[in-house]
Amino acid sequence: MESLGARPSIAILGAGIGGLAIAIGLIKRGVPVTIYEAAGQFSAVGAGIGFGPNSLNAIDLIDRRFREEYNKAKTPNEKAEFEHSVFDALYAEEGFGEKRGWTRGLVGAPYFTRSSAHRQDLLNIMASFIPRDTVKFGKRAQSIEQRENKAIITFQDGDVVAVDAVIGCDGVKGISRQAVLGDIAPEQVAPVYSGMYIYRGIVPMDKAKELLGTHAGDAKWFMAQGKGLVIYPISKGKEENFVYFISNKKSWTDGDAAVPCTKEEMEADLEGFDPRLLKLLDHAKPLRWPTWHHPKTLTYYNGRICLLGDVAHASSPHQAAGAGQGLEDAAVLCHLLALIKSPDQLETAFKVYDAIRRPRAQKVVLTSYDAGLLYMWQDEKIGDDMDKILENANQRLHWIWLHDLKTDIKKAESEFARLCQL
Ligand SMILES: Cc1cc2nc3c(=O)[nH]c(=O)nc-3n(C[C@H](O)[C@H](O)[C@H](O)COP(=O)(O)OP(=O)(O)OC[C@H]3O[C@@H](n4cnc5c(N)ncnc54)[C@H](O)[C@@H]3O)c2cc1C
Repeated sequence: MESLGARPSIAILGAGIGGLAIAIGLIKRGVPVTIYEAAGQFSAVGAGIGFGPNSLNAIDLIDRRFREEYNKAKTPNEKAEFEHSVFDALYAEEGFGEKRGWTRGLVGAPYFTRSSAHRQDLLNIMASFIPRDTVKFGKRAQSIEQRENKAIITFQDGDVVAVDAVIGCDGVKGISRQAVLGDIAPEQVAPVYSGMYIYRGIVPMDKAKELLGTHAGDAKWFMAQGKGLVIYPISKGKEENFVYFISNKKSWTDGDAAVPCTKEEMEADLEGFDPRLLKLLDHAKPLRWPTWHHPKTLTYYNGRICLLGDVAHASSPHQAAGAGQGLEDAAVLCHLLALIKSPDQLETAFKVYDAIRRPRAQKVVLTSYDAGLLYMWQDEKIGDDMDKILENANQRLHWIWLHDLKTDIKKAESEFARLCQL
C-alpha cells in the first residue's frame, strides 16, 4: 500500500473548459494539480456557449465563486418574451415561414432562463481561479503509459513526467483516450464523424439588427432540410454568435482541422435561405469545421488514467449540452478526489466516477445526435413537421436540465467510502 497521508500527484492534460473546471474544483478543495496544455497560452476555440440549468448547477458545485463570476458575464435573451426559451424556431426560407403563417416556435421551460457567454470571457473567468504556476504551457503530451502505480506522460518536447494519476481533458481527439481504451476497445479510440460540418462567427449586435431586425438579440433557430442556422446574443448583448449547420452524410476525409473554403461554397451550401441570413456570412470565418462525437466509450478510466469532458463524451452541439457534461464530470470528480487519503485510492475514485457519470454523459451524446437529425428535418418519423419538431424539442431537454447532480455527488461519496471502508 502506498503511504497513507501521501498527497497524490495529479496531472490534468488540457486547459479547455473541462480541464479548467476540474482544476478549479480540486484547487478549491486543497488538492494540488499541475495542468499540461499543448498551446502556448489559454485559448478558446469557437465563439459563444450556452448553459442550461444543469450546467449552472455544476458550476455552483465546483466553486460557488465561479458561478458568481459567470453571472457577471452571462448574456440573457434580449426580449422578455424569450427569457425562458432556449430558442425560437423559425423557417430558414425567405420570410422565415411567414407565408405559411408561422410566427413563433418557442422551445424552453418556465424554470429555464437562457444564458450564454463569449467563450473568451468564460475562459478568462475560469483562468482567474488558476494560479499561474499550476499550468505548464507548450506541453503537448504524446503518450501516457502506466508502470508500477505511476502514469508516465511523454511530451513532444522530450520531457517525461511520472505522476500518481492523469485526468485526460484533452478534447475530442485527445491522446488520453488511446491510453484508456487502446488495449480494451481500440475501435472506440478515434472519434466518429457526426455527419455534419459547421460555419461560425460573431457579428456586432448593431450589424445583426441591421440585417435581421427584431430577430437579432435573442436565441433563434432557422431550420431547413439538412441545414440550419442558430443565432444568440453574447458579450452582454454587444455581439451575436452564429453557427450554420450543414448535414453531410459522406465520411470526412479532409483531416482533423477546419478546412478553408470560399464564401461562394458557403452560399452554395445554404441555397434557399432567406437572403438576410446569408448576409451573416460576411462575418463568418471561411472555414468548414467538421463535427465529431464519441457515441461509444466502454469506460472513462483505466487504472490511474481517467477521461473528462470531450475526450470521454464529445457530442453533437444540438442540445448545447457538451461542455455542461464536462462541468458535471468535474463537479463529481473534484468531490471524490478531495476524499483521497492515499494514492492507491485513486483507482477506486475513478471507478465510482465512471459508474455515476458515464451512463448519463453517453445518453447526452446519443440524444444530441438525434436532436441534430430532428432539427435538420432528418428524423424519419417527424421530417419537416415543425409542430411535431417543437413538441419533441419541448420534451427532450428536461432530463438534461433537471438532473439532480447533488444527489449524484452524495451517492459517489458514499460509494467511495464503502469501497474504501472509510
Ligand atoms: C458548434 C459547437 C457549439 C457548442 N455549443 C455548446 C453549448 O452551447 N453549450 C455546451 O455546453 N457545449 C457546447 N459545445 C460543446 C463544447 O464546446 C465542448 O463540449 C467543450 O468545449 C469541450 O471542452 P474540453 O475541455 O473537454 O475540450 P477542448 O475544449 O477541446 O479542450 C482540450 C484542451 O486540451 C488541449 N490538448 C489537446 N491535446 C493535448 C495534448 N496532447 N497535450 C496537452 N494538451 C492537449 C487543447 O489544446 C485544449 O486546450 C459546442 C460545440 C460545438 C462544436
